[in-house]
Formats: sequence, C-alpha cells, structure tokens
Amino acid sequence: MKLETETLLKPNGYNLTNFSIDEIGDDHISTGIETPIKENAFHLSDIDKKERIAHLFSEIMDVMGLDLTDDSLKGTPNRVAKMYIDEIFSGLNPKNKPKVALFENKYQYNQMLVEKNITFYSNCEHHFVPIIGKAHVAYISSGKVIGLSKLNRIVQYFAKRPQVQERLTNQIATELKQVLETEDVAVIIDAKHLCVSSRGIKDDTSATVTSYYGGVFNTPSKIAELQNYLNN
Ligand SMILES: [Zn+2]
Repeated sequence: MKLETETLLKPNGYNLTNFSIDEIGDDHISTGIETPIKENAFHLSDIDKKERIAHLFSEIMDVMGLDLTDDSLKGTPNRVAKMYIDEIFSGLNPKNKPKVALFENKYQYNQMLVEKNITFYSNCEHHFVPIIGKAHVAYISSGKVIGLSKLNRIVQYFAKRPQVQERLTNQIATELKQVLETEDVAVIIDAKHLCVSSRGIKDDTSATVTSYYGGVFNTPSKIAELQNYLNN
C-alpha cells in the first residue's frame, strides 16, 4: 500500500494536499447511504452519455499509447460506453429500478424467508474494478409477500452502480424495508474485491462480509436462525 502524501489537482483548480489517493481507496471510506450523485445526473440522455463516454474513453486509451486504428481496439470505446450505461452502471438511473408488486400473504407463512446465494457483480467506486459476491436476503412478512425473483432484482439494481460494500448492503436493506413495509429484513453480503486481490495488497484469499439486521432480525436468536439457514 502506498502511503506517501500526494497532491490531487482538481479540475476546477483547487488542491487537496496531505491526502493519499491510495489510502482512501484501500480504506474504502463510504460517505453515506445515498450514492453520491449530481443533481443534474440525468439531464443528459443515455445516448448522449454513451457518446461522451466513448469519446473520453478513447482519450484514455490514446494517452496510454494504444493504437485506436487497430481492428481489435477501435470498437472498444463504444463497447465500454454501452456497457457502462446499459449494463454495469445501469443501477445509477432510477428509471431502471425494478417495479415491485406485492401479494397478500395468503399462505399465512409467518417465519423468515431467506433467499440465499444471490450472485452479483458490482464495481468498486474507488478503483472501478469488479466486486464479485453473494448476497443473502431475508424478511418476515408483515402481511405482504414479494415475488422471489424481485429480491434478486433489487440486489442486482443496487449492485449495478459504482459501490462500496457497506453502502450496497444498506441500500438493499433500505429498499427491502420500504417495499415490504417492515423493519424485519436482513442482508448479508460476502464479496471479493478485485482491487484487493488483483492489485494493491494482492490478497487473493480474503473476502469481505457485511450485514444488516433490522427489526426482529437484530436479536441473537434470529441471527442464529438465519445463520443456520445459510449454513445448510
Ligand atoms: Zn477498491
């Protein structure tokens, strides 16, 4: 890990000193539960965003010395732009939020429901490299039930943003509480960060686990019961 002080020259002209970019990145500081997003984030259309990103990405490639006339490389800026907007960062745009329909709990099922091993791919907002993990979500119905695939879709929506794992965990939990109209939700995320394994400290075996236990889940007996489901 690089610890020396660096000066960050911001595009608008002011400097941040006594500040190590690498330190911040590796410590994975998170600012709050909301993804930091500009007020005018969606003034540009997706088409315009892709055009701009493709242009800017071609600049990065050019600066690195890559030959953009090469057959294999010339389509890359457009591919990256399309992938950013339509796929891996599509969760930034609220229009892509999954619409959730709830059903009456006709089965009178009143124990916890656990949807485990939801595979997701996200990206670390400090390095823009993948976070690959599994999410386990659970809730106890307050009278309504949700289609199981929607639990998966909610995880995928928040994963498709530049993220830190702590925020991802809390964003999923907050959304579940809101749509299910209950505090009784739990989220556990177990993920591998490529910024830790493929660069920096280069630890290939560590994983990061985060959790949210709301309402009755925040009791030793419910946590034990949930752990039991997850270990089965
Ligand atoms: Zn990172």
